[in-house]
Amino acid sequence: MFTALTKNGQTISLLTTSRACFPSHYPPPYYCPACSQNVILKKGTKRRWHFAHQRSSFCSHQAEPETEEHLAGKSILYQWLEEKGLSPSVEACISSIRRTADVLFTWKNNTYALEFQCSSISSEETLQRTRDYYSAGITPIWIFSACRLRKMEGSRYAIHSFEWTGLRERRKDLRSAFIYLSPESSSFYYLFPRALPVDSAVFGDLYTMPITHTPIEHLIYLPNTLNGPLTWAANWIKQKKNWRFQTNQWRGKPDKTYMRQIFAKHRSDLPFFPPEAGWPSLSMEAFQTSSYIWQSWIMLCFLPNIPLYQCFSFRTICNEIDSLILNHIFIIRELPSISSPIEKAVFSYLELLERIGILKNTGAGWKKVKNMYLPISLEDAFMMDKKWSNIIFYKGIMN
Ligand SMILES: [Zn+2]
Repeated sequence: MFTALTKNGQTISLLTTSRACFPSHYPPPYYCPACSQNVILKKGTKRRWHFAHQRSSFCSHQAEPETEEHLAGKSILYQWLEEKGLSPSVEACISSIRRTADVLFTWKNNTYALEFQCSSISSEETLQRTRDYYSAGITPIWIFSACRLRKMEGSRYAIHSFEWTGLRERRKDLRSAFIYLSPESSSFYYLFPRALPVDSAVFGDLYTMPITHTPIEHLIYLPNTLNGPLTWAANWIKQKKNWRFQTNQWRGKPDKTYMRQIFAKHRSDLPFFPPEAGWPSLSMEAFQTSSYIWQSWIMLCFLPNIPLYQCFSFRTICNEIDSLILNHIFIIRELPSISSPIEKAVFSYLELLERIGILKNTGAGWKKVKNMYLPISLEDAFMMDKKWSNIIFYKGIMN
């Protein structure tokens, strides 16, 4: 860390104090501002100067030794905000919630805590920290180290479960993104998920911007972007094929067990899910339950109860989904910085159904304009998937 207390209780920061002042102006000992234990000034050559706890001590605010990457990130974020004329504080102790924010600053009457996260931690930890900040009236912004950006084939990125906590939304169009920082290249990266094929990965668009060119608004509201090409469309079809042809994938899963009973009533089974289900839709990350499962529920349980050319309200469908969530049949993902994620996911799927001619948004509600049928064979189903894929991905339905 960069800050410590002197014997007189004065706070000193290595980001604002000249090195020449050590030790003449500020002789040791130094103390941790959070836990008051002794800390040592490390005049590193590989790592920048910082204060460190003694190996034997335990500080709840700093569980692990600090890496150069973490120090560099905090320093860059601090300087960036300082140059914007804000008065950031590094390693700010917020005593009411017993947390230390990496960088804390106030902008347009709102206080923000930047958490620069390099190592993997549990989602319980990130969620608790996030809730603590919100409870203190502070908006947390998670910024992950760019080393955490793991690109696989295509535009597929691996996402660690705790990273979901950091997803932020762009209010004006309900898109969302993860924010990353590379201290090495002094750049921010924004990963906008487009689709979730599996629990641990997204297809997404990545944008980068040097920190010197980045306005503060980009961190708070996210930058404006144009969607990248749908290079992953073919991979999505592969994923649909997996859902149909992989056997026993539903064992022990409450959402799949429940849906199998529904399919059984139709003398069918999960692999024969409707070809109109299992498509990417905005905010689909709200569900941990696979898209083909909850979208099949809409196609098989909800819509058949609506007579053709009759309307239903958005609230009705949301209430039914909420009760499935309350009964732990559909599993959701906690996204503490996204407003109404489930509603958004359901709404954008209904919009997709409108674009493929099954529903119509009348303004007052949604009207069913077409009945649908379950495929009778896997070949039949997969052929329909390919047909819909051509329409959804290549005829401008997904943009
Ligand atoms: Zn401490």
